[in-house]
Amino acid sequence: MILLLLGAPGSGKGTQGRRLSEHFKIPYLASGDLLREAMGKDTSFGRQVSEYIERGLYVPDEIVVPPLIAELDRVQREGGGAVLDGFPRTREQAEVLDRSLGERSSGIDRVLLLEVPRDVLLPRLAGRRVCRSCNASYHVQTKPPKVDAICDVCGGEVYQRVDDKPDMVDDRLRVYFERTWPLVAYYKGKQRLAQIDGNRPESDVTAALIRAADGQPVG
Ligand code: ADP
Repeated sequence: MILLLLGAPGSGKGTQGRRLSEHFKIPYLASGDLLREAMGKDTSFGRQVSEYIERGLYVPDEIVVPPLIAELDRVQREGGGAVLDGFPRTREQAEVLDRSLGERSSGIDRVLLLEVPRDVLLPRLAGRRVCRSCNASYHVQTKPPKVDAICDVCGGEVYQRVDDKPDMVDDRLRVYFERTWPLVAYYKGKQRLAQIDGNRPESDVTAALIRAADGQPVG
């Protein structure tokens, strides 16, 4: 089963993607996590990626698409399914991915759109903190780690992503609505889209996503 999570920055894709991955026993593949890992390394790929992410921009396709397709290929060879988060992120990327999956006679089973109002996204992003090692997500007010700046899950360092700084959040939302939002129409046209209200308790959102992934009415 291949699931794709769509939604604005701060809509909960990371938290829910990990939960779906556990539930369906398929790997969770988050392009943002992979790119941030590369940013921490002193390689030409890492430096190129940093240049864009630090400005809240999408990394150009020629830099980002080949490694992401290769990673999906690797995961598929190992077992078949995946929960995709952050890729594809543009219409062009969606078309490349469709072609690549088509060559393997597979495709995306369900596209799950997490809908959250903008006035809820902004405080979620401003207070978000993440673990540098395992990418677990926290929030300074609603979900702080038990020990300040230390990850509950793995003991790694909990920090604020450079692109979550307040002056970048507006730009990222604008880029999302310009470049990623058109994917909603793209997948609606392919009868793959399920729209989920992401503005409720985490476990209610998870239950709705699981139902939608199983092809049941969302409720
Ligand atoms: P969020 O969903 O909160 O915006 P992500 O962790 O998914 O965050 O992505 C962080 C950043 O990584 C994006 O703003 C973008 O710069 C870059 N990125 C991630 N995936 C892609 C992609 N498929 N194509 C281009 N850039 C990407």
